[in-house]
Amino acid sequence: MRIAISWCTALMIGTIANTQALEITPLSDGLFLHQSEKEVEGFGKVSANGLIIVDGKEAFVVDTPWTDADAEALLEWTKAKDLTVKAVLATHWHEDRAGSFGVFERAGIATLSSEATQALLRQHQKTLATHTFSGDEIQYFGNKVEVFYPGAGHAMDNLVVYLPHEKLLFGGCLVREASTRFMGFYGDGSLPDWPESMSRLIAKFPEVITVVPGHGALGDKRLLEHTRGLAEAALKAQ
Ligand SMILES: [Zn+2]
Repeated sequence: MRIAISWCTALMIGTIANTQALEITPLSDGLFLHQSEKEVEGFGKVSANGLIIVDGKEAFVVDTPWTDADAEALLEWTKAKDLTVKAVLATHWHEDRAGSFGVFERAGIATLSSEATQALLRQHQKTLATHTFSGDEIQYFGNKVEVFYPGAGHAMDNLVVYLPHEKLLFGGCLVREASTRFMGFYGDGSLPDWPESMSRLIAKFPEVITVVPGHGALGDKRLLEHTRGLAEAALKAQ
């Protein structure tokens, strides 16, 4: 409950007003949450979370906003703050993560994905990343951004991002928000693999304090157990 209240308060204080749906909320010094919305068939209006990590005059973006208009709004925001965006990373190939890669690329910004995500973007004829990495782990932005692939779940290629200075884990769509009892859409992922992927994630970052799910309110490490429990229950119910 405490988290829910502080979350709402943060939204009221920190939200920028613009003509797009994009909202940018400060989480701490040099760390911002970006949220964009899209109408999704069968789900209604869905809000998606991403991050903007700032170091001095440079910024690193985790996940693109859902639409090109919101990506442009994000770049306007960085411009107003005199920030240079070094790169944007997509944590999987879906539109709420990589959908506005083109806006960033046209602005001369590196767009990053894993090779697995790139293959899926190519297969689905989406805008590709300008740079890819292989393997299950990589660090970016002067080692302030740790990227990890814990295994399949929501998608076959879902990555997570850990910020060691903040002890904050961006779980993306692999992690479910506290208020939900459902797994959401996983038609492109693997429910049988999901519990084990969560176990790998829990073991990898034991010191985590804050967890950001792909959609919905921030929480703490209990979101990881919550998601594993939901995935196990969904598997049993099959
Ligand atoms: Zn997705």
